[in-house]
Amino acid sequence: MSANTPETISVDSKVDEVKCDGGHGAMGHPTVWYSFEGQAHVSCGYCGRLFVKTN
Ligand SMILES: [Zn+2]
Repeated sequence: MSANTPETISVDSKVDEVKCDGGHGAMGHPTVWYSFEGQAHVSCGYCGRLFVKTN
């Protein structure tokens, strides 16, 4: 398992906010919410996960 490869998470296009806690284990971090604010994707400032809206 690579700790340096951010995951890409598909999110329903109707969702405006996503929650990230980094998952379990070493990559975990405090739960944070991110708003898409009209953009098609948002990345987590803690773990680098990329949340991408799907159609
Ligand atoms: Zn995260």
